[in-house]
Amino acid sequence: MHKKTAVVTGGAGFLGSHLCDRLLSEGINVICLDNLLTGRIENIEALFTNANFQFIKLDVTNFIHIPSDVDYVLHFASPASPIDYIKLPIQTLKVGSLGTHKTLGLAKEKKAVFLLASTSEVYGDPLIHPQNEDYWGNVNPIGPRGVYDEAKRFSEALTMAYHRYHNLSTRIVRIFNTYGPKMRLDDGRALPSFFTQALKGEDLTVYGDGKQTRSFCYVSDLIDGIYKLLISNEVLPVNLGNPEEITILDFAKEVIEITNSKSKITFNDLPIDDPQIRQPDISRAKEILNWEPKISRREGLLLTLNYFKENIK
Ligand code: UDP
Repeated sequence: MHKKTAVVTGGAGFLGSHLCDRLLSEGINVICLDNLLTGRIENIEALFTNANFQFIKLDVTNFIHIPSDVDYVLHFASPASPIDYIKLPIQTLKVGSLGTHKTLGLAKEKKAVFLLASTSEVYGDPLIHPQNEDYWGNVNPIGPRGVYDEAKRFSEALTMAYHRYHNLSTRIVRIFNTYGPKMRLDDGRALPSFFTQALKGEDLTVYGDGKQTRSFCYVSDLIDGIYKLLISNEVLPVNLGNPEEITILDFAKEVIEITNSKSKITFNDLPIDDPQIRQPDISRAKEILNWEPKISRREGLLLTLNYFKENIK
């Protein structure tokens, strides 16, 4: 039987590296592309001895040449945490626009299925709750987060244009907050920051009054949904995330409790355009992919605790 090959851009990143693991375990060859701007070799080091895995250090905003056949192209390259994309605004815009163009071009050339990693950020600071895929969003194009949000919105538009005009087989996943091992401890997001602070006995930094909400999904659940979407025929965007919603203040308290820490909480300024609420409506994923998350937040946080303990310096 023909062994399939997948190209994963951003394959050395948090989600990209978990995706490489999963595709390999499904018997698919993986070519991982990453320029290591925010991705890390440690995430894929264990795969270097696997004959079905290949790593190419590459900036996917430039022309991509892959000599072999390719069956799937999964575009996961992008700075993805607010402090990263605010520090790297031009790179974020380029990888979402030029990078999506190049990876779609690769998929078209190879007659491969293309899967775009999009985001709940396309909904911006949402005016409906929970967010379903038919909602068009409330995004400030010129705010600091606009570089990520608009790049992803553009990448969705480009993906649909390749589908409609070139008849390319495409998928769009809108990923909500996800966590687990291999996250960067210093990526500035609430979860790694809170874990690091709690384990070091430092104050947890809650932004604003902490009443804003998020819904956190454990990484294995998310990757499972992405794989199911990849092998489905669904062209329209699909939300993937865990609908279990919590305020950031309660979440900080939960991390203190789980880590058995004596840390206190301090309140800092809320970043500009920080969404007030976020919860995925996953009806479409349930119906089309027969998918829903299996791991509760408490279980997932316990699974992640060891990773943080081992990696804190
Ligand atoms: N946040 C916080 N303290 C931190 C980091 C983040 O209170 O040290 C807040 C942030 O303002 C946001 C929420 O936690 O309201 C989730 O932020 P994160 O950076 O994890 O990602 P986002 O969901 O905003 O993309």
